[in-house]
Amino acid sequence: MGSPILLKLFEDNPTLASQVFGLIKQQENLFTVNRAESEVMAINQAAGRHPVVVSAPVFALISVAHAVSILPDSAFNFTIGPVVKRWKIGFQGREVPPAAEIEALLRLTDPHQVVLDAEQHSVFLPLPGMEIDLGAIAKGYIADVVQAFLRQQGVAQALINLGGNVQTLGSPPHQPQGWGIGLKKPFGRDDELLGTLQVQGKSVVTSGIYERYFERDGRCWHHIFDPRTGYPLDNELLSVTVIADRSLDGDIYTTLLYGMGVEQGLAYLAGQPDIDAVFVTRDRQIICSPARHFRFSQLDFSWQLRH
Ligand code: ADP
Ligand code: MG
Repeated sequence: MGSPILLKLFEDNPTLASQVFGLIKQQENLFTVNRAESEVMAINQAAGRHPVVVSAPVFALISVAHAVSILPDSAFNFTIGPVVKRWKIGFQGREVPPAAEIEALLRLTDPHQVVLDAEQHSVFLPLPGMEIDLGAIAKGYIADVVQAFLRQQGVAQALINLGGNVQTLGSPPHQPQGWGIGLKKPFGRDDELLGTLQVQGKSVVTSGIYERYFERDGRCWHHIFDPRTGYPLDNELLSVTVIADRSLDGDIYTTLLYGMGVEQGLAYLAGQPDIDAVFVTRDRQIICSPARHFRFSQLDFSWQLRH
């Protein structure tokens, strides 16, 4: 999936480990848009021509993505595909596309146009060139599938990290306070941490502008796009981390909160008792929402911690 995968188990069970990796591969094959074939690719290839019937889980995830995309002022848009492809960020993208091209592509990214048929499990993109992109939520969804599989196998303590989507079961042995999950210093080395988050049985999802980007004209052009403009979201944020039960929710909320920014995001979270977040900003602040489901231990004191 173009990002490293880490699985922590506390029993010597290579069969179980290889089952997990097989499951991840199988799931990825349903959703990818970066290879020749997948259920999502089949929908995209039929854009402007005909609906495509997909499997129940793919239809369910697309339905969630659709619902989040049509929320008022949502920064999340699952039909952002044509814009993502054009920028090629993370795939040798090095140029800012001409404004006229971005504008033309934006016309292919209206989530309201997607036709979902819940009875047939079919998805239709009415305009040729429309493309679904589930890149913002596929890893979260798969992390939850892995968690459910491990639970079903009787595993009580485990951690899976799918390129920034961490999902956990229980607490590690002899550490009743929970898992310590590092919060990376933006643009720092891999081992440079701003602090650690402690969670039990929760998911921790980080989305940051420092993961995939290029620099041009003194700006960092990264891979989280503003669906209203077709350009990378440009605000005070360097990263957003969400702590939630489900990694899928973590994935959805990181994108939504990215679009809201710190002040609006904190106000929004006040009404979401099951979701916590940590914002990291360009002016070197670490801002925690009223921590209900995690503890934050600061490690780098050259950044200012706000609660
Ligand atoms: P990462 O893949 O680094 O964990 P994210 O979870 O934030 O990052 O997802 C970024 C991916 O989501 C992009 O590579 C792109 O495929 C897709 N994407 C970019 N902008 C949006 C958006 N506004 N809404 C939905 N998906 C997006
Ligand atoms: Mg995401």
